[in-house]
Amino acid sequence: MADNCVFCKIIRGELPSFKVYEDDKTLAFLDIHPISAGHTLVIPKAETARNIFDVTPEDWMATTETARKVAHALEKAMHADGVNIMMNNREHAGQVVDHPHIHVIPRYKGDGLGQWQHKAYKEGEANSIKEKIRSAL
Ligand code: AMP
Repeated sequence: MADNCVFCKIIRGELPSFKVYEDDKTLAFLDIHPISAGHTLVIPKAETARNIFDVTPEDWMATTETARKVAHALEKAMHADGVNIMMNNREHAGQVVDHPHIHVIPRYKGDGLGQWQHKAYKEGEANSIKEKIRSAL
């Protein structure tokens, strides 16, 4: 989207990448600083969006389908015991590159990478939050 969008340059072939998959709408390539070997980024090729908040439903569906394919490939090729599929959206959620991208990360028994910490809701809180989200949908 922006002139300095690194992933747009990869799409245009102006920057190299370790490409693992490509179709009409999506591209998948190795993350240059992997959390584990085979960590793959899946992106829509359209250079019109920054993240989940402006990606089109069609590009999102194509990107998630490619992420599904990549997950299966990582299980087969990297012998992953599981995968994490995650996406950072906007700066305060950890997004660094302003082009939609899904991380597909191979995980292994005992890899020590851990999970986020979970919290508890206070009395009545879950119900009121559920109502807020329902009315926003
Ligand atoms: P995020 O924090 O979700 O925006 O993640 C951006 C990811 O892009 C990071 O994991 C980086 O390691 C990765 N990255 C940045 N530049 C490149 C590049 N040229 N090729 C592959 N991965 C990259």
